[in-house]
Amino acid sequence: MHLSYDVIPCPDAKVSDFITTDKTWDIDRLQHVISDRYLIHRILGVPLPISDIQDSLTWGCTSSGKFSMQSTTWLAHGIHSSTARSWPHAWIWKLDIRPKILIFIWQLCHNALPVRFLLHSRGVDLDPLCPLCGQHNESIQHLFLSCPSTIRVWEAAEDHHWIPRGFLRGTNTDIAGLLLT
Ligand SMILES: [Zn+2]
Repeated sequence: MHLSYDVIPCPDAKVSDFITTDKTWDIDRLQHVISDRYLIHRILGVPLPISDIQDSLTWGCTSSGKFSMQSTTWLAHGIHSSTARSWPHAWIWKLDIRPKILIFIWQLCHNALPVRFLLHSRGVDLDPLCPLCGQHNESIQHLFLSCPSTIRVWEAAEDHHWIPRGFLRGTNTDIAGLLLT
C-alpha cells in the first residue's frame, strides 16, 4: 500500500504507533490521524502478525514482496501485478509479422508513437493540431480512430469487407483495446 505524505499529517509516524498492545490496529488513533475513511478501511484490511517478527523491506508491486523488473514495467503502465495475470500486450510478440510492423503496434499500444500532441506535451516546439483535419490535437487515439480522415479509411475498409461492418461501433475509444478484439 502506498501512502503519500499529504494524507498523513504526521509523516514521522511509524506503523507501530497504530498497533495496540493486543496486536490489533488502533482504530481510534487511525481515525484521529487519517481523515480518509477508505484509506482507514484499507489499512484495517492489512493482517497483523500474531507473533513478533523482524521488520523487513518488501516490494509492494508483487505478491511475493520481491522486486522484479517486470513489476516495474507494470507499475509504469498503471497495472498492479496482483490483479494482472499476464502482461496485457504480450500477444504482440507472438504475431508472425515483419519486425517493423510489430514494433509499430507495440508503440501504438504503449502510447509511444511520436504524434504531434505527444511531442508537444513533452516540450517539442510544434503545432499539436492534426494536419489532416486541423481541428483536434493529433493524439494516437485521434489519428487512428476519431479523425474524420481516419474514419473514412475505416469506412472504406468496411466497404471492402477487410474488417467486419460495425467493427468500430460498440468499442471504446482505446486503440489498444480495439486491437485486442
Ligand atoms: Zn484530425
